[in-house]
Amino acid sequence: MEIPAEGRVIVSACLAGVACTHEAEAKTRPWAIQLVAEGRAVLVCPEVAGGLPIPRPAAEIVGGDGADVLGARAQVISETGEDVTQNYLAGARKAAEAARAAGAQLAILKARSPSCGCGQIHSGTFDGELRAGDGVTAAMLKQEGLEVVSDETVE
Ligand code: SF4
Repeated sequence: MEIPAEGRVIVSACLAGVACTHEAEAKTRPWAIQLVAEGRAVLVCPEVAGGLPIPRPAAEIVGGDGADVLGARAQVISETGEDVTQNYLAGARKAAEAARAAGAQLAILKARSPSCGCGQIHSGTFDGELRAGDGVTAAMLKQEGLEVVSDETVE
């Protein structure tokens, strides 16, 4: 997809140079830096906003996808066995609040994350496999009516 010329955009913070992934890395993309420079990026890291530290154990959605977590049909579990569902829900709510406050219609989120993944997430069994579905924040932003896309679709 091509980023529209106007309007504020929700962007996963790790794409804009913030070292907030579970391994304390950034996944910087030039277009995200450009959106920041234009004052149009609204950076969100739902996992940190939901109270999780940097670094932190990897986590996956067990029993469904982000929409199922929102519907209380699935949980987010860390690789150390901790139930972090409430952190993920809290972070998703904060991202939704940020989107409303900014009037954002578009979110560009980091691929395959249990929070930010859009269209594809990890399997839920820590086996390296992928499954169809959205992360928790991606699902919530879709429910809020935003267009949500993976960073890998940006040209
Ligand atoms: S929760 Fe989203 S913004 Fe935060 S590190 Fe993971 S992919 Fe990046």
